[in-house]
Amino acid sequence: MNQAEYFKQYYEENKNEINQKCRDYYNEQKAKVLKKQAEYRLFNWHKIKEKNLHYYDKVREKWAKERWDLRQKVLERLGNKCSRCGFDDWRTLQIDHVKNDGYIERKQLHWRKLYNLILSLPEDELKKNYQLLCANCNWIKKYEEASKPF
Ligand SMILES: [Zn+2]
Repeated sequence: MNQAEYFKQYYEENKNEINQKCRDYYNEQKAKVLKKQAEYRLFNWHKIKEKNLHYYDKVREKWAKERWDLRQKVLERLGNKCSRCGFDDWRTLQIDHVKNDGYIERKQLHWRKLYNLILSLPEDELKKNYQLLCANCNWIKKYEEASKPF
């Protein structure tokens, strides 16, 4: 019997015991690792918190940039100026739903979906449904709509 055969036979005869030992060893190591992790968390929670905050800052930054880029495209597609008075300072420009159901739509559509919708609409659909208004004209429109007799 060569060495390999001997080990094979030894294994076959002591299978249960060997497997149990392996399992025990594994569980022991696992317990050690978990304990180490728990200790690390306990003593370094501030580090972990900082790391997480940093991570979320990055995600937020990325989203803000995406939103900004998409908004620039939307403003450009809608003409980059107020469709009533022509005011063109982008800081005041708001997307207005021509048919006045913008409130409902905003509730239903996430900004990403709304922006993508506006970017993908054909020109005539777009003109029918969306326009840019400056903040002043938007408020004026709201008052006008509110004072209309029903
Ligand atoms: Zn205006």
